[in-house]
Amino acid sequence: MDDPTVRGALGKSIAQVYTIEFQKHGLPHAHILIVLQEADKFSTSDHIDKFVHAEIPLSIENPQLHEIVTKCLMHGPCGIDNPGAPCMEAGQCKKMFPKEFRTETTMNASVYHLYRRCPSDTTFGRGREMDNRFVVPYNPYLLLKYNAHINEVCTSLRVVKYIYKGFDCANIVLSAGQVQYNEIANYIDAQYVSTPEAMWQLLGSHMHDL
Ligand SMILES: [Zn+2]
Repeated sequence: MDDPTVRGALGKSIAQVYTIEFQKHGLPHAHILIVLQEADKFSTSDHIDKFVHAEIPLSIENPQLHEIVTKCLMHGPCGIDNPGAPCMEAGQCKKMFPKEFRTETTMNASVYHLYRRCPSDTTFGRGREMDNRFVVPYNPYLLLKYNAHINEVCTSLRVVKYIYKGFDCANIVLSAGQVQYNEIANYIDAQYVSTPEAMWQLLGSHMHDL
């Protein structure tokens, strides 16, 4: 968040906050909320299209971006191709992939915008051919700068709840002999801390900042 080019990647920011989370196998990632000045807030579909893409870039035009999107921003496989995927719940993808093809971006004030996804482009990744319905929305500038999974621009205040959703928890009971059902023990809420997170905190790195 100290990088001024990142702060300006989506427009001039007037406030920002981030939290660091660790996935269960230990990979750190940041949830970042940026408040843009009034003039830079996403007010039209054309404005959104300048900053957020949900299509596979042509390899002949931008081979580096094409490679990063193929490697880091394609969702799946899930659904009937992979019913055991982590995103699957009750037989459906929680992230609602694959999305629908769309010829133009439509603003959606409630949560996520409906991005343009033309049916023309495909790429080969994760062992299969995938099209624009599987692209996780991204900002080309940030992707090229960091070569990492950086996704989604959300314009709803509901994103605040997501940023502060808290740490992962594990319900665990260590017992000897016969396992007995213990209703009170089942309600113990234990924070799960992976080795990388422990090191992150021991080294004094920030878990959140403004
Ligand atoms: Zn899925």
